Amino acid sequence: MTTWKMAARAEKMNPSVLREILKVTDLPGIISLAGGLPSPKTFPISAFADACAHVLANDGAAALQYAASEGYGPLRQAVADMLPWDVDPAQVLITTGSQQGLDLVAKVLIDPGSRVLVETPTYLGALQAFSPMEPTPVSVASDDEGVIVEDLVAKARGTAGAASEDAARFIYLLPNFQNPTGRTMSEARRAAVSAAAKAANLPIIEDNPYGDLWFDEAPPLPLTARNPEGCIYLGSFSKVLAPGLRLGFLVAPKAIYPKLLQAKQAVDLHTPIFTQRMVVEVMKDGFLARHVPTIRALYKRQRDAMAAALTREMKGLDVTFNAPIGGMFMWARLPEGIDTVKLLPKAVARGVAFVPGAPFYADGQGDPRTLRLSFVTASVEEIDTAIAALAATLREQLAH
Ligand code: PMP
Repeated sequence: MTTWKMAARAEKMNPSVLREILKVTDLPGIISLAGGLPSPKTFPISAFADACAHVLANDGAAALQYAASEGYGPLRQAVADMLPWDVDPAQVLITTGSQQGLDLVAKVLIDPGSRVLVETPTYLGALQAFSPMEPTPVSVASDDEGVIVEDLVAKARGTAGAASEDAARFIYLLPNFQNPTGRTMSEARRAAVSAAAKAANLPIIEDNPYGDLWFDEAPPLPLTARNPEGCIYLGSFSKVLAPGLRLGFLVAPKAIYPKLLQAKQAVDLHTPIFTQRMVVEVMKDGFLARHVPTIRALYKRQRDAMAAALTREMKGLDVTFNAPIGGMFMWARLPEGIDTVKLLPKAVARGVAFVPGAPFYADGQGDPRTLRLSFVTASVEEIDTAIAALAATLREQLAH
């Protein structure tokens, strides 16, 4: 029998706590408010059928050939045109989902032991993407508006100041409709964070897959727009078109772009060119300007339905939740004494699944009373049933 000697980094890899938890939520008959899946009702299937036929008929050979690692020129241009600051398409790198952007950032910026600042809590998938490069994640205290500037400044510094070897390599931020909390960074906080990071020589990795999914008004300008030289911006087509495309992008300053490109080349040579050409074809004639408002309207109705169901069903219980102004997630806090990890199997037995909040905290100090609820995948009727089942589970638990 062959014994495989694994790399130290592989020994450290663990199945995502979340994926393990989510396995139980995929059972038939369970209404899952757990996954981060966009509503399939929003996928523009016929537009893709037309675009696919068009690309094959007109550019079939090029669409099936190897292509440039930077990405397809017209798509890089379209991305630059979409963003609300002056972006040179030469600084756009098309990635295989924005998750790949996180991997490339990790490879280029993290050495073993590098301190990497994250929000409290933060996107678990980013912690996973960074982890093979063996960083030391450092949670920056956060409130309803995002990271707290004083704590950011204190933690950015190394023992010998900003130029110190152990100064933080970057801060990873999700200013819009954050995963998992749904919170949005205010204009004032953005201005303060941007100024503080610049003064501390702290690069910002800004992840914005949900930014277009606002309900009433567009969020304030991205952090990158305020200081493009100090930020890497990650974007995605997963939430405005479809996640199965695995299509995302990053915008990086000249000082770092070539290294990200080299890392990308080593990973997968390039993002599928067929997909890139198809998306350019789908997006022509202002498709997104017509399509995205329909997603916003649907998700807003679903948010309202979940907020109403929570208010109705949790009456008399010490349950708090936010009503996010965009995106896909609501964040709730259950009464004293409840541990959502332990509550989950009981909720699943009653037909509803959610994600416990604790795994999203990089420092392991997660509040056991928190949980994340997606309001976009289940229908309004299912949301009503699921929240009633969750309330029944909770009441039963509190009666014990
Ligand atoms: N960042 C965040 C905050 C996310 O929630 C997700 C998807 N769950 C991603 C990045 C990755 O998205 P994708 O690779 O589909 O672009």
